[in-house]
Amino acid sequence: MSYNPNKFIHVNDITIQEETKELLTQAESIYWQNFNGKTWYGRCIFISWYCSVGDCKFCFRSTQKHKIQHPEHSKRSIGSILLEALFCKVFNWRIEFLTGGYGIMPFPQLFEIIKNVSLVYGEKIWLNLGVISNDHVEEIRPYVKGICSSMETLTPELHKYVCPNKPIEPYDTMFSHLEGFQKSIAIIVGLGDTVEDMKYLFDFITKHNLDRITVYALKPVLGTEYTEGPSPDEFVQWLARLRIQFPKLEIIAGTNLRRSEECGYLMKAGANAMTKFPATKQFATKKAKLVEKLIQKEKRDFISTLSVLPEIDWNNKIDELPIEQQYKDAMKDKLAPYLEKFQNPVDIDTDTTVF
Ligand code: SF4
Repeated sequence: MSYNPNKFIHVNDITIQEETKELLTQAESIYWQNFNGKTWYGRCIFISWYCSVGDCKFCFRSTQKHKIQHPEHSKRSIGSILLEALFCKVFNWRIEFLTGGYGIMPFPQLFEIIKNVSLVYGEKIWLNLGVISNDHVEEIRPYVKGICSSMETLTPELHKYVCPNKPIEPYDTMFSHLEGFQKSIAIIVGLGDTVEDMKYLFDFITKHNLDRITVYALKPVLGTEYTEGPSPDEFVQWLARLRIQFPKLEIIAGTNLRRSEECGYLMKAGANAMTKFPATKQFATKKAKLVEKLIQKEKRDFISTLSVLPEIDWNNKIDELPIEQQYKDAMKDKLAPYLEKFQNPVDIDTDTTVF
């Protein structure tokens, strides 16, 4: 397949098939029978852009460009990681999970980040950092409430092709032994699964009694073989079928700048929350306000904000945190450009984030 930028989905005009409309009606009704309308923005906090696996077919980390631009030490600064945790607290975003690729750093360093993100956020957090050993699971327990695994697809043959070096089995084993944590997976619609293939996904959710699932629409990355994401119809069908099959499952639906117009449909399909919107870059822009409006139009109580900057003294807020002074200083060093962006929103239509 070759790259064709015109084939990127640009969701302005959403066409929904009759069959999907029926699924949406059913899914929406099931949602309201089981939930109270409280809807939030989930924020993934990235630790690093490096991954030692590096060859999943859809992933930006597999591209030659990424390998050249981001050699092994593409770690993010602790200041900006902790600031994002603080933004989550202040803007009432939920930390979807703390994530990064495989092999990003030795466990003691990772532990320090996990602990401090949790301390800044003021709650235990979700992690998505691959397969975690039993010893490490015990160490992180005071700071972590749930483990998410990016499974991408559960369809066996497709998974082998798309993620040749990230097999399903170790995750399957980890989930089978994980006790005292909530469990979640992340999957991507558009990798090549058919609707019939959803049975593999349903089996996995049932087998491990998952509490939550995050569902992304494939965002094609230049340099990979994927050139097209799923249509809005296909994406919301997956969400609706999941809601119908699992009435009480927490479903988090991914969006992005180009797909933000479909947010209302994500709600109709029974999603509890949305994620992947580039909220720090887009804070208070037209797109951010549109997303809020589309969610509220579905009678949801959107408890996060993507547009209202509270009048607080950020330096004081950082000083009050129960973390070491070196981390407070690191946060203050990174604060100004974020606040500048929040206070001066710039409307752009090009989403340059690749993850
Ligand atoms: S999908 Fe995950 S495991 Fe695969 S290359 Fe990307 S970051 Fe690494």
